[in-house]
Amino acid sequence: MKRIGVLTSGGDSPGMNAAIRAVVRKAIFHDLEVYGIYSGFAGLINGDIEKLDIGSVGDIIQRGGTKLYTARCEEFKTLEGQEKGIEQLKKFGIEGLVVIGGDGSFRGAQKLVEHGYPTIGVPGTIDNDIPGTDFTIGFDTALNTIIDAIDKIRDTATSHERTYVIEVMGRNAGDLALWSGLANGAETIMVPEVKDDMKDIVSRLKRGTDRGKKHSIIIVAEGVGSGVEIGKEIQDKTDLETRVTILGHIQRGGSPTAQDRVLASRLGAKAVEVLLAGDAGKMVGIENNQLVVHDIDDALSRKHSLDEKMYNLSKELSI
Ligand code: ADP
Repeated sequence: MKRIGVLTSGGDSPGMNAAIRAVVRKAIFHDLEVYGIYSGFAGLINGDIEKLDIGSVGDIIQRGGTKLYTARCEEFKTLEGQEKGIEQLKKFGIEGLVVIGGDGSFRGAQKLVEHGYPTIGVPGTIDNDIPGTDFTIGFDTALNTIIDAIDKIRDTATSHERTYVIEVMGRNAGDLALWSGLANGAETIMVPEVKDDMKDIVSRLKRGTDRGKKHSIIIVAEGVGSGVEIGKEIQDKTDLETRVTILGHIQRGGSPTAQDRVLASRLGAKAVEVLLAGDAGKMVGIENNQLVVHDIDDALSRKHSLDEKMYNLSKELSI
């Protein structure tokens, strides 16, 4: 293998730049040429591709977002779109591809593999919802952004003696809600993986106010439903003054944490090693702090699950 490509796809996540840098530098270290494909699969179809050198990935390890831009591309879900993409890869002489993104992007990568094209997936999403890896690139940074925001909301919640419902991202996964709830000592954490009983939430809140609590924080994962609706229901059922904050896209941006930069560097470099070893259709991940390689097929066929013990602990600590 002499020439590889790299792209970022789907939702951006902090640390994607560090992963791009690792792919490019590791490839050059092994005397490979690297081509950057802009705007995910959309840029692949359109041939928006250029050669990257060592300097082109300088000064990006600390930046959020992705230097290669990202996009959602419906056309790539069609056979015609995939064939156009492969044509471009052939035209540029790119023999293997690293796709950095979430599970949707992995499905795109898998299509390339089905067409016989060597592709490796690097998990990049704030949602931490990809099976086969304990952590995805961007999760830790998003978590820290959420924690910082909730600390600030808690100050005002205490001062005004209010109940706050905070909606966090995570798509269909509750990891961001669970981890941030545990880290912030939230009274209630609502995740899509567990069906909540509103009666139980109300009685927990009442128990808190009865023992003199000045405020309550309820974290709602977006996969559960609308934070606004849940806030209304809680206010109606408790008579507590309830405010709702939807954190929104601040969770996706910002300078990546040390944890995400290191993870991205390790996973990006590992992806190049896997390509060089002649493997295809794999994803790289981290389990028990060891780098692992799984079949993308296998990862996509499994469902991400929430850490049940951590969830139970969050209940025990917020009595
Ligand atoms: P993420 O990678 O963050 O989960 P998406 O689910 O939006 O984001 O997927 C990103 C892109 O991956 C899509 O816009 C599309 O181009 C490609 N993709 C997703 N699913 C498929 C599929 N089944 N076949 C081919 N390409 C896909």
